[in-house]
Amino acid sequence: MPRPILATIHPAALRHNLERVRQAVPDAKLWAVVKANAYGHGIENVFEALRGADGFAMLDLAEAERVRQLGWRGPILLLEGVFEPRDLELCSRLSIWHAVHCDAQIDWLAAHKTQQGHRVFLKMNSGMNRLGFTPGRFRAAWARLNALPQVEEISFMTHFSDADAPAGQPGISVQLQRFHDATRDLPGERSVGNSAATLRQGSDAQVRCDWVRPGIVLYGSSPDYPQRTAAEWGLQPTQTLSSRIIGVQHLAAGDSVGYGSRFTADAPMRLGTVACGYADGYPRHCGTGTPVLVDGVRTRTLGRVSMDMLAVDLTPVPGAGLGSEVTLWGRAGNGAVLSIDEVAEAAGTLGYELMCAVAPRVNKTID
Ligand SMILES: *Cc1c(COP(=O)(O)O)cnc(C)c1O
Repeated sequence: MPRPILATIHPAALRHNLERVRQAVPDAKLWAVVKANAYGHGIENVFEALRGADGFAMLDLAEAERVRQLGWRGPILLLEGVFEPRDLELCSRLSIWHAVHCDAQIDWLAAHKTQQGHRVFLKMNSGMNRLGFTPGRFRAAWARLNALPQVEEISFMTHFSDADAPAGQPGISVQLQRFHDATRDLPGERSVGNSAATLRQGSDAQVRCDWVRPGIVLYGSSPDYPQRTAAEWGLQPTQTLSSRIIGVQHLAAGDSVGYGSRFTADAPMRLGTVACGYADGYPRHCGTGTPVLVDGVRTRTLGRVSMDMLAVDLTPVPGAGLGSEVTLWGRAGNGAVLSIDEVAEAAGTLGYELMCAVAPRVNKTID
């Protein structure tokens, strides 16, 4: 028998979350962002559930090919565009749309021999300062692209740095203004909203535009935790990381647990050892007190996370023992939910990082 740790993907939750975004922006088209292997879920594991999207967006050509191989004939968008001229051949052959964020990418297109008209998203750097043309250089880039016979359609995009900002801070307003000012009289579709902007401000036509680009919310994590939780947003977890108790210890007052003896019992207690460690993708930075479910009952971790094991407090679950179900995040057998966002917070990171970091040695299954 393999170690009992398992990542279970929930297609019904993916469908639910997609529908939740649809409700927020009923008249926008929707790119389902499936980069990083669908935020660690596996593109093959989410594809059917997310088919209701209008397109799939990612970074890697290899991921785009996989989506085509799964039978998707609709739009596919490379959010960072191509990385070398040769990539354009596959874009032509598979009808893949691609972002254009720098002059070199325009040069490559101009030199590309193709009968197939390319659809591109011209990307503006409106303040994030990662990729894109600044507002002052945007129009010249558009004019160059617009003159190319290789280009059939030009759309416009930008990406927000502060869409999850607490209320009262500027958030997206400056970037939004720059983007719309610089594209005002240019013909073409527009896309600005990531998950946070879409759910929080999608009622504003300037934010939802023609296309939204949600990622994290499709996977059931809150886009602005801890301001609002996933449950408050009406999102359901799409990934459960579960395992079992493989050992039980009875501690006396003064006994300590794990490497570095970071937890010491102040009274007699029962502890469960769980087959899950940082080599499975569970964050080592989680200290004593990180929430965890045992038989669907909320309890806490104790001491340091080791490579293959961690310890949980069995005090609130006196009936639990060897073989009991442990839910590291997601949905327990009894229906109780532990949001990945709570575990991420205990580790000083985001749900994004945890869901992407589940290790290859963890088997995945679909329920
Ligand atoms: C990752 C990404 C998104 C999705 O972001 P979320 O915060 O997960 O919704 C949207 N647009 C671009 C350009 C991205 O790189």
